[in-house]
Amino acid sequence: MPKKVMCVDDSNTIRMLVEKTLVPAGFEVVGAENGQAALDSLSPDIDLFLVDVNMPVMGGFEFIENLKQKAEYKTKPVIFLTTESSAEKKEKGKALGINGWVVKPFEPESFLKVINMLAG
Ligand SMILES: [Mg+2]
Repeated sequence: MPKKVMCVDDSNTIRMLVEKTLVPAGFEVVGAENGQAALDSLSPDIDLFLVDVNMPVMGGFEFIENLKQKAEYKTKPVIFLTTESSAEKKEKGKALGINGWVVKPFEPESFLKVINMLAG
């Protein structure tokens, strides 16, 4: 079974780029354009979440707060994929229990390394 990654990002370009990087490496990728859309399409076979911080309707922080309240998703790895890299935002992410932080634009090789490590 391929590992399934959910990419939550309001940018089509980023979701396509993530798919182009992960699918050839053997991952299945599903996308959602904001936190609310992601909550509406959750499925327990998702192995890892890649989450943007700034999105309309529901942003990344609020999405993760909601996700962590669900027993079946509480322990799933979450990586922020964002242009934000301020210490304050990182602290807030840590407090929410996120597992990693990748700054856009990402470099495919190191990106894959992080995904492999956490989805494994
Ligand atoms: Mg965004």
